[in-house]
Amino acid sequence: MSSTRARTALITGGSRGIGLAIARGLLREGVRVALVARGVEELATRKSELGGDTVVVAGDVTDAKEIDRVVAAVGAAFGGMPDILVNNAGIFIPKALDVLTSEEYERMITINLIAPFFLLRAILPTWKAQGNGQLITIGSVADRTIYPDNGGYSASKFGLRAMHEALRAETKGSGVRTTLVSPGAVDTPIWDTVVLPKENRFPTRDKMLTSDAVADAVVWAALRPANVNIDELRITAT
Ligand code: NDP
Repeated sequence: MSSTRARTALITGGSRGIGLAIARGLLREGVRVALVARGVEELATRKSELGGDTVVVAGDVTDAKEIDRVVAAVGAAFGGMPDILVNNAGIFIPKALDVLTSEEYERMITINLIAPFFLLRAILPTWKAQGNGQLITIGSVADRTIYPDNGGYSASKFGLRAMHEALRAETKGSGVRTTLVSPGAVDTPIWDTVVLPKENRFPTRDKMLTSDAVADAVVWAALRPANVNIDELRITAT
């Protein structure tokens, strides 16, 4: 970003998987990172791995009040709002709509769609006032493509893409940048808890993308010059 090169980034779900890989990638480029997740111990481990300058704040992104507390804590640690927000935290429950429970549907919508809005809302006014800032949204190939056994997840990610694109339309020319990164299956701990559907269409984990491949794309988009917006990157394994 030349004179406005990003110095700080808040990454939700930064304690493992794709979020952690993004944190490592941005750190390598000299960007200070703040990781937000619920697990206190895992965050403490990451802080000692990544270095003392790393900010970790435990919190549940589904709770609007928690978000205000988390963003204030990150802002205090950085001495201002983060230059980059990576809306990454998410969950995945692949089930047919007649099997998916109301609670599971609601949980996916809350974490994958509503929480990213809470985060954005807490930071956007500052970005608009200062004329810079970058939202990086981690979507999914399922934010545009429909697969069976994926109704709840796809609903959340289609919605997330819509919110992201609306922001792009609303901030065009303002200096605020927006990048949607939509990967296919990525080998992360998310798969440890996924109960695969009967008609399993997913690749084995050794055939999935790595978290580092997604992080590379995010870091590249984040480091473009201030007058360049990378609208969208869709990434799949060969
Ligand atoms: P992981 O399950 O590996 O990591 C999820 C991260 O989010 C953890 O740090 C977790 O920490 C945090 N998190 C989960 N729920 C909350 C919450 N309520 N509040 C705060 N933090 C939370 O996931 P991935 O890295 O695989 O996925 C990251 C993103 O990438 C998601 O949005 C996912 O939809 C998307 N994606 C993933 C793909 C894949 O195949 N892995 C493919 C395409 C997109 P904690 O549990 O401690 O809160």
